[in-house]
Amino acid sequence: MDKVVSPQDRWSWVEVNLAALRRNTAAFRHQIARGVQMMCVVKADAYGHGAAACAKTMRAAGADQFAVATVAEGVALRRAGISWPILVLSEPPVDCVGTLVEYDLMPAVYTADFALALGEAAAAANRVARYHLAVDTGMTRIGVRRSDALELRRTIDFHRGLECAGTFTHFATADVLDDWDFALQLNRFQEVVSALRGAGLECGLVHCDNTPGTILHPECHFDMCRVGIGLYGLHPAETTMPRIQLEPVMSVRGRVTRALYPSVGDGVGYGMTYRVPKQNIQIATVPIGYADGLARELSNNMDVIVGGGRCRQVGSICMDQFMFAVDVNSARAYRPSRPVEYGDVVTLIGADGDELIGADEMAGLRNTINYEVVCDFGMRLEKIYT
Ligand SMILES: *Cc1c(COP(=O)(O)O)cnc(C)c1O
Repeated sequence: MDKVVSPQDRWSWVEVNLAALRRNTAAFRHQIARGVQMMCVVKADAYGHGAAACAKTMRAAGADQFAVATVAEGVALRRAGISWPILVLSEPPVDCVGTLVEYDLMPAVYTADFALALGEAAAAANRVARYHLAVDTGMTRIGVRRSDALELRRTIDFHRGLECAGTFTHFATADVLDDWDFALQLNRFQEVVSALRGAGLECGLVHCDNTPGTILHPECHFDMCRVGIGLYGLHPAETTMPRIQLEPVMSVRGRVTRALYPSVGDGVGYGMTYRVPKQNIQIATVPIGYADGLARELSNNMDVIVGGGRCRQVGSICMDQFMFAVDVNSARAYRPSRPVEYGDVVTLIGADGDELIGADEMAGLRNTINYEVVCDFGMRLEKIYT
């Protein structure tokens, strides 16, 4: 771990392995039939990995469209030169319609007021605004109620400034095998699409599968799959692990900025929640803290890897830094082989030698999901693309 590139002004960074991202994207492209589109979800700055760079890599590996969560995320992608279709996954505030038209972003639509305002903005610019109808089939988050979908379409369809480019829903339990709620949602979705088509309405691209759906439910790929977490090399659940080979894209590393041997009994960090228990324990500092996405609840309860061996993090994690203990005489199987030095590379997420800490391990310690772990590390750390 000596030849790694790190930022000049701060010894902490997120490494984004674009080759792994390309291989993951290609693996999904391979699972999706030719003729079915792949929408790559790059919301929240590509789950913390950097949306513009990731979108370009995904495009080269087979992405047809992109999805974001907010209008600002869509605008940022356009300004970065991404010219392919972009869907905003929920209906933004009505004041955004001008921006949506200007930047050619497709919103999810589920209210008539919003749709008509969008149509007006488009017509005023001599354009046609493409949108995707979002249908709530049971997750109770966004979308038109399934019983109201046909009426909504009939209310807005006259507008010459509007074009329905897609009809979609989102599953609450796509990662569960043989799930009754999933079957119910799928059934409701198909009924809505049939009713719309039966009324002579164009539905555009019909889509519902997220990552677990794409892997576990190929029978409902329909016209497009919306793939997110899997592209970043992480599994949404244990159920998908046997079905597709993925490589984690993000590593999180820092360098030791200070290392010393405190006296026995010395405290470490705010509140002195750790005290040096014996001689020859080295305490080292790394400039990564909870403002960088290292959740404070991990304090005194996580490992880091240095020189291919694990060490315990000790003391309360600070806003911008944390400390860890090095005990070369430890009885633990994975103790480091030598004391650390100023500048040594420390791995929080990723591999070093034979040791590996995955986002799943950290998520387990935090009682959350890998999605949140990688999003959090996207907050402030500089990204280095490899
Ligand atoms: C986030 C999101 C996705 C992608 O989900 P993954 O589980 O990351 O694949 C797909 N569709 C919608 C509507 C989403 O909000």
